[in-house]
Amino acid sequence: MSRRKRIYEGKVKVLYEGPEPGTLVQYFKDDATAFNARKRGVITGKGVLNNRISEYLMTRLGEIGVPTHFIRRLNMREQLVREVEIIPLEVVVRNVAAGTFAERFGLAEGTALPRSIIEYYYKNDELTSPMVSEEHITAFGWATPQDLDEIMSLALRINDFLSGLFLGVGIRLVDLKIEFGRLWNGDDMRIVLADEITPDSCRLWDIKTNEKLDKDRFRRDLGKVAEAYQEVARRLGIMPEAGPADLKGPTVMQ
Ligand code: ADP
Ligand code: MG
Repeated sequence: MSRRKRIYEGKVKVLYEGPEPGTLVQYFKDDATAFNARKRGVITGKGVLNNRISEYLMTRLGEIGVPTHFIRRLNMREQLVREVEIIPLEVVVRNVAAGTFAERFGLAEGTALPRSIIEYYYKNDELTSPMVSEEHITAFGWATPQDLDEIMSLALRINDFLSGLFLGVGIRLVDLKIEFGRLWNGDDMRIVLADEITPDSCRLWDIKTNEKLDKDRFRRDLGKVAEAYQEVARRLGIMPEAGPADLKGPTVMQ
């Protein structure tokens, strides 16, 4: 495995060349960053949990016909994915005001939004990922108007489906950040969901107590960070107590 070619090392994952052309191996690290990497740390066990959680959510999304890069999980920290041409956008869908959005509009955190709101950020670490409009995206050629239509409709479908899935296990999906890529098949191009969907990239609150079960525990030094990620995995039914034989479906809240 060590002879594999390392393609890219990011803040929380490493990409290696996959076993077949057009595939990549995504390795999930325990590293955590926040505030555009001005804050750094390690959340022990996070990589293992995020690998499982993203596998689970991408598989469920695949079942309802959302195209994703996910192929299969390889081991505790690695998954095989299709290599895509990443569209350099962080697509954020918000259901409830939180974080910078709450600050920007002077809303109390937890205020329900009149409808789901999509925002785009230009994915660029040096520029600390500025928010951009559809005008910037099409003028700079990051995506065509047709690509953007597809991205918007996929983002809303993903958000609706995951909102329901999480609600079923007693969790509110406050917001999420997703990335898309272009997958080529000859001259045919499809836009697919790429990267990850994990408590690093979503805000997840307990439905009854509003307890945060996501990266805000790290951002805001709330403690019990790894425990929160474990709780998300447990509720999704992907944390076997005593090995894989224990795997059961999600726990439905009454
Ligand atoms: P970053 O620090 O750039 O966010 P990460 O640590 O999240 O990086 O590592 C994942 C990187 O791989 C991201 O830059 C992401 O855009 C990219 N990526 C995710 N999925 C794919 C894919 N299927 N094909 C190519 N690149 C991908
Ligand atoms: Mg990333």
